[in-house]
Amino acid sequence: MAGDGRRRDDPHVTGGLAIVGIPRWGLWQLPNRAVIAYVLAVDLVALLGAAAAFVLIPIAGGDLFPCVALMACSVLYTELSRPIEKIRESYKGAPHIALMSVWIFAAVLLLHPGLAAAVIVLTFYYRWFRIQPNPLYRRTFSASATVVSGYAAAGFLAATSPVLFTDMPRNIPAFLLVVAAALVFFTVNTLLMTIAVYYGTPHTKVRDALATPADYALELATIALGILLAWALADWPIALALIIGITLVLHRSVLIRQLRDQARLDAKTGLLNSESWRKAADDELARTASTGQETGVLMLDLDHFKAINDRHGHPTGDVLLRMVADTLKDEVRSSDLVGRFGGEEFVLLLAKTGRLHARNIAERIRQRVASTSPDGVDMPDLERVTVSIGVAVYPQDGTSLDNIVKAADRALYVAKRAGRNQVFVKGDPPPPVVTTAQTSDHV
Ligand code: GH3
Ligand code: MG
Ligand code: MG
Repeated sequence: MAGDGRRRDDPHVTGGLAIVGIPRWGLWQLPNRAVIAYVLAVDLVALLGAAAAFVLIPIAGGDLFPCVALMACSVLYTELSRPIEKIRESYKGAPHIALMSVWIFAAVLLLHPGLAAAVIVLTFYYRWFRIQPNPLYRRTFSASATVVSGYAAAGFLAATSPVLFTDMPRNIPAFLLVVAAALVFFTVNTLLMTIAVYYGTPHTKVRDALATPADYALELATIALGILLAWALADWPIALALIIGITLVLHRSVLIRQLRDQARLDAKTGLLNSESWRKAADDELARTASTGQETGVLMLDLDHFKAINDRHGHPTGDVLLRMVADTLKDEVRSSDLVGRFGGEEFVLLLAKTGRLHARNIAERIRQRVASTSPDGVDMPDLERVTVSIGVAVYPQDGTSLDNIVKAADRALYVAKRAGRNQVFVKGDPPPPVVTTAQTSDHV
Protein backbone atom coordinates (compact mmCIF):
# COMPACT_ATOMS: atom_id res chain seq x y z
CA MET A 1 0.00 0.00 0.00
CA ALA A 2 1.21 3.50 -0.76
CA GLY A 3 3.05 5.16 2.11
CA ASP A 4 2.94 2.02 4.26
CA GLY A 5 6.64 2.14 5.14
CA ARG A 6 6.33 5.75 6.23
CA ARG A 7 3.38 4.93 8.48
CA ARG A 8 5.27 2.24 10.27
CA ASP A 9 8.01 4.76 11.00
CA ASP A 10 5.55 7.25 12.39
CA PRO A 11 6.42 7.82 16.05
CA HIS A 12 2.78 7.69 17.06
CA VAL A 13 2.34 4.29 15.46
CA THR A 14 5.57 2.71 16.57
CA GLY A 15 6.12 4.33 19.94
CA GLY A 16 4.70 1.42 21.91
CA LEU A 17 5.40 -1.32 19.42
CA ALA A 18 9.08 -0.66 19.01
CA ILE A 19 9.95 -2.28 22.30
CA VAL A 20 8.02 -5.46 21.54
CA GLY A 21 10.77 -7.10 19.56
CA ILE A 22 13.49 -6.67 16.98
CA PRO A 23 11.39 -7.88 14.01
CA ARG A 24 9.14 -4.87 14.49
CA TRP A 25 12.03 -2.42 14.36
CA GLY A 26 11.77 0.02 11.48
CA LEU A 27 15.49 -0.71 11.02
CA TRP A 28 14.72 -3.68 8.79
CA GLN A 29 12.60 -1.48 6.55
CA LEU A 30 15.50 0.82 5.69
CA PRO A 31 16.08 1.00 1.93
CA ASN A 32 19.09 -1.28 1.65
CA ARG A 33 21.45 -3.57 3.51
CA ALA A 34 24.34 -1.11 3.36
CA VAL A 35 22.34 1.41 5.43
CA ILE A 36 21.30 -1.26 7.93
CA ALA A 37 24.94 -2.38 8.19
CA TYR A 38 26.04 1.22 8.67
CA VAL A 39 23.53 1.82 11.47
CA LEU A 40 24.47 -1.43 13.23
CA ALA A 41 28.20 -0.71 12.80
CA VAL A 42 27.88 2.68 14.52
CA ASP A 43 25.86 1.03 17.34
CA LEU A 44 28.52 -1.65 17.67
CA VAL A 45 31.44 0.81 17.76
CA ALA A 46 29.67 2.74 20.53
CA LEU A 47 29.08 -0.43 22.53
CA LEU A 48 32.53 -1.97 22.06
CA GLY A 49 34.17 1.39 22.75
CA ALA A 50 32.39 1.65 26.11
CA ALA A 51 33.27 -1.96 27.00
CA ALA A 52 36.92 -1.40 26.06
CA ALA A 53 37.02 1.86 28.04
CA PHE A 54 35.66 0.17 31.18
CA VAL A 55 38.21 -2.65 30.84
CA LEU A 56 41.26 -0.59 29.91
CA ILE A 57 40.85 2.77 31.66
CA PRO A 58 40.50 2.89 35.44
CA ILE A 59 37.65 5.04 36.77
CA ALA A 60 38.94 7.89 38.93
CA GLY A 61 37.11 8.49 42.20
CA GLY A 62 36.69 12.15 41.21
CA ASP A 63 34.47 11.12 38.28
CA LEU A 64 31.63 10.07 40.54
CA PHE A 65 30.30 13.50 41.53
CA PRO A 66 30.22 15.04 38.02
CA CYS A 67 28.77 11.82 36.60
CA VAL A 68 25.88 11.80 39.07
CA ALA A 69 25.42 15.60 38.72
CA LEU A 70 25.22 15.39 34.92
CA MET A 71 22.82 12.46 34.99
CA ALA A 72 20.62 14.32 37.48
CA CYS A 73 20.76 17.50 35.34
CA SER A 74 19.85 15.62 32.23
CA VAL A 75 16.81 13.97 33.87
CA LEU A 76 15.75 17.20 35.59
CA TYR A 77 16.10 19.17 32.37
CA THR A 78 13.99 16.68 30.45
CA GLU A 79 11.29 16.98 33.11
CA LEU A 80 11.47 20.79 33.22
CA SER A 81 11.28 21.07 29.44
CA ARG A 82 8.19 18.86 29.15
CA PRO A 83 5.75 21.79 29.42
CA ILE A 84 7.62 23.55 26.58
CA GLU A 85 7.52 20.36 24.53
CA LYS A 86 3.77 20.09 25.21
CA ILE A 87 3.25 23.45 23.45
CA ARG A 88 5.29 22.10 20.57
CA GLU A 89 3.18 18.97 20.35
CA SER A 90 0.08 21.01 19.63
CA TYR A 91 1.81 22.33 16.49
CA LYS A 92 1.96 19.28 14.31
CA GLY A 93 5.11 18.89 12.28
CA ALA A 94 7.49 21.07 14.30
CA PRO A 95 10.70 19.11 14.71
CA HIS A 96 11.68 18.23 18.25
CA ILE A 97 14.46 20.30 19.62
CA ALA A 98 16.73 18.90 22.22
CA LEU A 99 19.52 20.86 23.75
CA MET A 100 21.02 17.68 25.14
CA SER A 101 24.56 18.46 24.04
CA VAL A 102 25.00 20.68 27.10
CA TRP A 103 25.07 17.68 29.46
CA ILE A 104 26.60 15.42 26.88
CA PHE A 105 29.60 17.52 25.94
CA ALA A 106 30.28 18.34 29.57
CA ALA A 107 30.32 14.58 30.23
CA VAL A 108 32.69 14.04 27.28
CA LEU A 109 35.13 16.60 28.68
CA LEU A 110 34.96 15.58 32.32
CA LEU A 111 34.31 11.88 32.56
CA HIS A 112 35.86 8.51 31.90
CA PRO A 113 34.72 7.60 28.32
CA GLY A 114 32.57 4.70 29.58
CA LEU A 115 30.78 6.94 32.09
CA ALA A 116 30.35 9.65 29.43
CA ALA A 117 28.70 7.00 27.23
CA ALA A 118 26.41 6.13 30.15
CA VAL A 119 25.37 9.80 30.53
CA ILE A 120 24.68 9.96 26.78
CA VAL A 121 22.63 6.76 26.79
CA LEU A 122 20.62 7.91 29.81
CA THR A 123 20.00 11.34 28.24
CA PHE A 124 18.74 9.87 24.97
CA TYR A 125 16.59 7.10 26.40
CA TYR A 126 15.10 9.17 29.19
CA ARG A 127 14.01 11.70 26.63
CA TRP A 128 12.69 8.90 24.41
CA PHE A 129 10.75 7.53 27.37
CA ARG A 130 9.29 10.85 28.55
CA ILE A 131 8.98 13.06 25.47
CA GLN A 132 9.78 11.73 22.04
CA PRO A 133 8.91 8.08 21.39
CA ASN A 134 10.29 7.86 17.84
CA PRO A 135 11.37 4.43 16.56
CA LEU A 136 13.77 2.83 19.00
CA TYR A 137 16.37 1.98 16.37
CA ARG A 138 16.64 5.66 15.46
CA ARG A 139 17.01 6.72 19.04
CA THR A 140 19.63 4.02 19.52
CA PHE A 141 21.49 5.18 16.43
CA SER A 142 21.41 8.85 17.52
CA ALA A 143 22.72 7.85 20.96
CA SER A 144 25.43 5.65 19.40
CA ALA A 145 26.49 8.33 16.93
CA THR A 146 26.78 10.78 19.83
CA VAL A 147 28.78 8.28 21.89
CA VAL A 148 31.16 7.73 18.95
CA SER A 149 31.50 11.52 18.47
CA GLY A 150 32.30 11.76 22.18
CA TYR A 151 35.07 9.14 21.77
CA ALA A 152 36.47 11.16 18.85
CA ALA A 153 36.50 14.39 20.89
CA ALA A 154 37.94 12.70 24.01
CA GLY A 155 40.53 10.93 21.83
CA PHE A 156 41.50 14.25 20.28
CA LEU A 157 41.97 15.83 23.72
CA ALA A 158 43.92 12.82 25.01
CA ALA A 159 46.21 13.03 21.98
CA THR A 160 46.82 16.77 22.23
CA SER A 161 46.82 17.50 25.98
CA PRO A 162 49.10 15.73 28.43
CA VAL A 163 46.61 16.28 31.27
CA LEU A 164 42.89 15.68 31.78
CA PHE A 165 40.39 18.50 31.28
CA THR A 166 40.10 19.14 35.03
CA ASP A 167 43.85 19.69 35.32
CA MET A 168 44.30 21.72 32.15
CA PRO A 169 45.77 25.19 32.71
CA ARG A 170 43.22 27.99 32.25
CA ASN A 171 45.17 29.62 29.41
CA ILE A 172 44.57 30.35 25.76
CA PRO A 173 46.25 27.24 24.23
CA ALA A 174 44.18 25.00 26.55
CA PHE A 175 41.02 26.93 25.66
CA LEU A 176 41.75 26.49 21.95
CA LEU A 177 42.27 22.77 22.44
CA VAL A 178 38.89 22.43 24.16
CA VAL A 179 37.19 24.44 21.40
CA ALA A 180 38.88 22.21 18.81
CA ALA A 181 37.60 19.13 20.67
CA ALA A 182 34.09 20.65 20.54
CA LEU A 183 34.44 21.06 16.78
CA VAL A 184 35.59 17.44 16.44
CA PHE A 185 32.49 16.36 18.39
CA PHE A 186 30.18 18.49 16.26
CA THR A 187 31.73 17.45 12.94
CA VAL A 188 31.78 13.71 13.61
CA ASN A 189 28.22 13.78 14.94
CA THR A 190 26.90 15.82 12.01
CA LEU A 191 28.65 13.54 9.54
CA LEU A 192 27.36 10.31 11.11
CA MET A 193 23.79 11.63 11.32
CA THR A 194 23.74 13.14 7.83
CA ILE A 195 24.96 9.90 6.26
CA ALA A 196 22.17 7.98 8.03
CA VAL A 197 19.47 10.45 7.00
CA TYR A 198 20.73 10.72 3.42
CA TYR A 199 21.05 7.00 2.73
CA GLY A 200 18.23 5.94 5.07
CA THR A 201 15.52 8.04 3.45
CA PRO A 202 14.72 7.23 -0.15
CA HIS A 203 15.03 10.08 -2.67
CA THR A 204 16.47 12.56 -0.20
CA LYS A 205 18.70 15.28 -1.57
CA VAL A 206 21.84 16.16 0.38
CA ARG A 207 20.29 19.57 0.97
CA ASP A 208 17.31 17.95 2.71
CA ALA A 209 19.49 15.64 4.79
CA LEU A 210 21.30 18.66 6.23
CA ALA A 211 19.87 20.81 9.01
CA THR A 212 19.50 24.57 8.57
CA PRO A 213 22.40 26.92 9.40
CA ALA A 214 20.33 28.17 12.36
CA ASP A 215 20.06 24.60 13.67
CA TYR A 216 23.81 24.05 13.35
CA ALA A 217 24.45 27.37 15.11
CA LEU A 218 22.14 26.26 17.92
CA GLU A 219 23.92 22.93 18.23
CA LEU A 220 27.30 24.69 18.41
CA ALA A 221 25.96 27.09 21.05
CA THR A 222 24.68 24.14 23.06
CA ILE A 223 28.07 22.42 22.88
CA ALA A 224 29.70 25.70 23.95
CA LEU A 225 27.40 25.75 26.99
CA GLY A 226 28.64 22.23 27.65
CA ILE A 227 32.20 23.60 27.87
CA LEU A 228 31.08 26.19 30.43
CA LEU A 229 29.23 23.52 32.37
CA ALA A 230 32.28 21.26 32.47
CA TRP A 231 34.35 24.17 33.67
CA ALA A 232 31.74 25.04 36.32
CA LEU A 233 31.61 21.44 37.53
CA ALA A 234 35.40 21.37 37.86
CA ASP A 235 35.77 24.76 39.53
CA TRP A 236 32.48 26.04 40.89
CA PRO A 237 29.70 23.43 40.75
CA ILE A 238 26.88 25.69 41.99
CA ALA A 239 27.05 27.54 38.64
CA LEU A 240 25.25 24.46 37.35
CA ALA A 241 21.95 26.02 38.46
CA LEU A 242 22.55 28.97 36.12
CA ILE A 243 23.27 26.68 33.20
CA ILE A 244 20.03 24.75 33.65
CA GLY A 245 18.17 28.11 33.65
CA ILE A 246 19.99 29.36 30.54
CA THR A 247 19.29 26.12 28.69
CA LEU A 248 15.57 26.28 29.50
CA VAL A 249 15.31 29.88 28.27
CA LEU A 250 17.23 28.93 25.12
CA HIS A 251 14.87 26.00 24.59
CA ARG A 252 11.82 28.24 24.87
CA SER A 253 13.19 30.85 22.47
CA VAL A 254 14.08 28.18 19.92
CA LEU A 255 10.51 26.94 20.15
CA ILE A 256 9.23 30.44 19.43
CA ARG A 257 11.47 30.66 16.36
CA GLN A 258 10.18 27.29 15.17
CA LEU A 259 6.56 28.29 15.60
CA ARG A 260 7.17 31.55 13.75
CA ASP A 261 8.80 29.67 10.86
CA GLN A 262 5.92 27.25 10.84
CA ALA A 263 3.30 29.97 10.65
CA ARG A 264 4.94 31.10 7.40
CA LEU A 265 4.75 27.72 5.76
CA ASP A 266 2.01 25.67 4.21
CA ALA A 267 1.75 22.51 6.29
CA LYS A 268 0.96 20.19 3.40
CA THR A 269 3.79 21.13 1.05
CA GLY A 270 6.32 22.99 3.18
CA LEU A 271 6.20 25.91 0.72
CA LEU A 272 5.48 29.50 1.76
CA ASN A 273 1.78 30.04 2.34
CA SER A 274 0.10 32.65 0.21
CA GLU A 275 0.29 35.45 2.78
CA SER A 276 3.97 35.00 3.53
CA TRP A 277 4.73 34.59 -0.18
CA ARG A 278 3.07 37.95 -0.86
CA LYS A 279 5.03 39.67 1.88
CA ALA A 280 8.35 38.19 0.77
CA ALA A 281 7.55 38.82 -2.91
CA ASP A 282 6.68 42.47 -2.21
CA ASP A 283 10.04 42.95 -0.48
CA GLU A 284 11.94 41.18 -3.24
CA LEU A 285 10.20 43.21 -5.94
CA ALA A 286 11.03 46.46 -4.17
CA ARG A 287 14.66 45.34 -3.96
CA THR A 288 14.97 44.38 -7.64
CA ALA A 289 12.99 47.44 -8.77
CA SER A 290 15.59 49.70 -7.17
CA THR A 291 18.29 48.02 -9.26
CA GLY A 292 16.27 48.36 -12.48
CA GLN A 293 16.21 44.61 -13.07
CA GLU A 294 13.40 42.36 -14.26
CA THR A 295 11.49 39.82 -12.14
CA GLY A 296 9.52 36.85 -13.42
CA VAL A 297 6.30 35.54 -11.85
CA LEU A 298 4.98 32.06 -12.65
CA MET A 299 1.45 30.89 -11.79
CA LEU A 300 0.94 27.13 -11.92
CA ASP A 301 -2.21 25.09 -11.71
CA LEU A 302 -2.46 21.31 -11.78
CA ASP A 303 -4.47 20.03 -14.71
CA HIS A 304 -7.71 18.16 -14.14
CA PHE A 305 -6.80 17.69 -10.53
CA LYS A 306 -10.38 17.25 -9.44
CA ALA A 307 -10.68 14.24 -11.73
CA ILE A 308 -7.41 12.79 -10.36
CA ASN A 309 -8.73 13.20 -6.81
CA ASP A 310 -12.01 11.60 -7.77
CA ARG A 311 -10.27 8.63 -9.35
CA HIS A 312 -7.45 8.02 -6.85
CA GLY A 313 -8.67 9.62 -3.65
CA HIS A 314 -7.64 12.73 -1.75
CA PRO A 315 -4.61 11.20 0.04
CA THR A 316 -3.09 10.33 -3.34
CA GLY A 317 -3.91 13.86 -4.48
CA ASP A 318 -1.94 15.14 -1.50
CA VAL A 319 1.09 13.00 -2.40
CA LEU A 320 0.96 14.48 -5.90
CA LEU A 321 0.73 18.02 -4.55
CA ARG A 322 3.84 17.41 -2.47
CA MET A 323 5.61 15.92 -5.47
CA VAL A 324 4.92 19.05 -7.53
CA ALA A 325 5.99 21.26 -4.60
CA ASP A 326 9.30 19.33 -4.33
CA THR A 327 9.86 19.64 -8.07
CA LEU A 328 9.32 23.39 -7.92
CA LYS A 329 11.79 23.81 -5.07
CA ASP A 330 14.30 21.67 -6.87
CA GLU A 331 14.05 23.49 -10.19
CA VAL A 332 14.65 27.02 -8.96
CA ARG A 333 17.38 28.77 -7.01
CA SER A 334 17.08 28.82 -3.24
CA SER A 335 16.70 32.62 -3.41
CA ASP A 336 13.53 32.32 -5.53
CA LEU A 337 10.21 32.38 -3.71
CA VAL A 338 7.95 29.37 -4.11
CA GLY A 339 4.47 29.55 -2.59
CA ARG A 340 1.28 27.56 -2.47
CA PHE A 341 -1.36 30.03 -3.54
CA GLY A 342 -4.50 28.02 -3.09
CA GLY A 343 -5.62 24.39 -3.30
CA GLU A 344 -3.63 23.15 -6.29
CA GLU A 345 -2.19 26.46 -7.42
CA PHE A 346 1.40 27.51 -6.94
CA VAL A 347 3.20 30.77 -7.51
CA LEU A 348 6.88 31.52 -8.05
CA LEU A 349 8.82 34.74 -7.99
CA LEU A 350 12.10 34.57 -9.88
CA ALA A 351 14.29 37.52 -9.00
CA LYS A 352 16.50 39.09 -11.67
CA THR A 353 14.84 36.99 -14.36
CA GLY A 354 13.67 38.34 -17.69
CA ARG A 355 11.06 37.02 -20.10
CA LEU A 356 13.19 34.55 -22.02
CA HIS A 357 14.76 33.03 -18.95
CA ALA A 358 11.39 32.85 -17.12
CA ARG A 359 9.89 31.06 -20.11
CA ASN A 360 12.72 28.52 -20.13
CA ILE A 361 12.35 27.84 -16.42
CA ALA A 362 8.56 27.44 -16.76
CA GLU A 363 9.02 25.03 -19.66
CA ARG A 364 11.63 23.05 -17.70
CA ILE A 365 9.21 22.76 -14.76
CA ARG A 366 6.33 21.74 -17.01
CA GLN A 367 8.39 18.98 -18.63
CA ARG A 368 9.80 17.73 -15.36
CA VAL A 369 6.35 17.47 -13.71
CA ALA A 370 4.93 15.70 -16.76
CA SER A 371 7.73 13.15 -16.77
CA THR A 372 7.91 12.44 -13.02
CA SER A 373 6.25 9.30 -11.79
CA PRO A 374 5.22 9.81 -8.19
CA ASP A 375 6.72 7.49 -5.57
CA GLY A 376 4.38 4.95 -4.15
CA VAL A 377 1.40 6.04 -6.26
CA ASP A 378 0.08 3.45 -8.62
CA MET A 379 -0.91 5.51 -11.65
CA PRO A 380 -0.76 4.50 -15.29
CA ASP A 381 1.63 6.58 -17.42
CA LEU A 382 -1.30 8.03 -19.36
CA GLU A 383 -2.46 9.65 -16.18
CA ARG A 384 0.67 11.56 -15.30
CA VAL A 385 0.04 14.81 -13.46
CA THR A 386 0.60 17.84 -15.65
CA VAL A 387 0.66 21.55 -14.95
CA SER A 388 -0.29 24.63 -16.90
CA ILE A 389 1.86 27.70 -16.30
CA GLY A 390 1.29 31.40 -16.91
CA VAL A 391 4.29 33.74 -16.98
CA ALA A 392 4.42 37.51 -16.52
CA VAL A 393 7.40 39.78 -16.03
CA TYR A 394 8.02 42.94 -14.02
CA PRO A 395 8.02 45.75 -15.08
CA GLN A 396 6.61 45.28 -18.59
CA ASP A 397 3.48 43.34 -17.52
CA GLY A 398 2.69 45.35 -14.40
CA THR A 399 4.40 47.64 -11.94
CA SER A 400 2.91 46.27 -8.72
CA LEU A 401 2.99 42.72 -7.38
CA ASP A 402 -0.80 42.52 -7.62
CA ASN A 403 -0.77 43.48 -11.27
CA ILE A 404 1.95 41.02 -12.22
CA VAL A 405 0.22 38.20 -10.35
CA LYS A 406 -3.01 39.05 -12.16
CA ALA A 407 -1.17 39.11 -15.50
CA ALA A 408 0.41 35.70 -14.74
CA ASP A 409 -3.02 34.39 -13.76
CA ARG A 410 -4.53 35.55 -17.04
CA ALA A 411 -1.63 33.92 -18.90
CA LEU A 412 -2.36 30.71 -16.99
CA TYR A 413 -5.97 30.90 -18.12
CA VAL A 414 -4.77 31.12 -21.74
CA ALA A 415 -2.54 28.05 -21.23
CA LYS A 416 -5.54 26.14 -19.85
CA ARG A 417 -7.74 27.16 -22.75
CA ALA A 418 -5.04 26.11 -25.19
CA GLY A 419 -5.29 22.52 -23.97
CA ARG A 420 -3.34 22.44 -20.64
CA ASN A 421 0.13 20.97 -19.99
CA GLN A 422 1.65 24.07 -21.48
CA VAL A 423 3.31 27.39 -20.76
CA PHE A 424 1.94 30.71 -21.91
CA VAL A 425 3.96 33.89 -21.57
CA LYS A 426 2.08 37.18 -21.40
CA GLY A 427 2.66 39.12 -24.60
CA ASP A 428 3.09 36.06 -26.85
CA PRO A 429 0.59 35.60 -29.68
CA PRO A 430 -2.39 33.71 -28.20
CA PRO A 431 -2.45 30.00 -29.10
CA PRO A 432 -5.61 28.48 -30.60
CA VAL A 433 -8.27 27.54 -28.07
CA VAL A 434 -8.89 23.81 -27.66
CA THR A 435 -12.60 23.33 -27.19
CA THR A 436 -13.05 19.73 -26.17
CA ALA A 437 -15.95 19.09 -23.84
CA GLN A 438 -13.48 18.14 -21.12
CA THR A 439 -11.49 21.34 -21.39
CA SER A 440 -14.50 23.63 -21.28
CA ASP A 441 -15.69 21.72 -18.20
CA HIS A 442 -12.59 22.60 -16.35
CA VAL A 443 -11.93 26.19 -17.26
P1 GH3 B 1 -8.13 22.48 -14.34
O1 GH3 B 1 -7.28 21.71 -15.26
O2 GH3 B 1 -9.07 23.37 -15.03
O3 GH3 B 1 -7.35 23.22 -13.30
O4 GH3 B 1 -9.01 21.39 -13.59
P2 GH3 B 1 -9.03 21.06 -12.05
O5 GH3 B 1 -9.87 19.85 -11.85
O6 GH3 B 1 -7.65 20.98 -11.55
O7 GH3 B 1 -9.66 22.39 -11.45
P3 GH3 B 1 -10.67 22.67 -10.33
O8 GH3 B 1 -10.39 24.04 -9.83
O9 GH3 B 1 -12.06 22.37 -10.81
O10 GH3 B 1 -10.32 21.65 -9.16
C1 GH3 B 1 -9.31 21.85 -8.28
C2 GH3 B 1 -9.28 20.62 -7.41
O11 GH3 B 1 -8.16 20.61 -6.58
C3 GH3 B 1 -10.48 20.54 -6.53
C4 GH3 B 1 -9.95 19.99 -5.26
O12 GH3 B 1 -10.52 18.73 -5.01
C5 GH3 B 1 -8.48 19.80 -5.48
N1 GH3 B 1 -7.71 20.23 -4.34
C6 GH3 B 1 -7.58 21.47 -3.86
N2 GH3 B 1 -6.80 21.46 -2.76
C7 GH3 B 1 -6.43 20.17 -2.53
C8 GH3 B 1 -5.66 19.51 -1.54
O13 GH3 B 1 -5.10 20.10 -0.62
N3 GH3 B 1 -5.51 18.17 -1.65
C9 GH3 B 1 -6.11 17.48 -2.66
N4 GH3 B 1 -5.92 16.16 -2.70
N5 GH3 B 1 -6.86 18.06 -3.59
C10 GH3 B 1 -7.02 19.39 -3.53
MG1 MG C 1 -7.27 25.60 -9.62
MG1 MG D 1 -6.45 22.72 -11.63
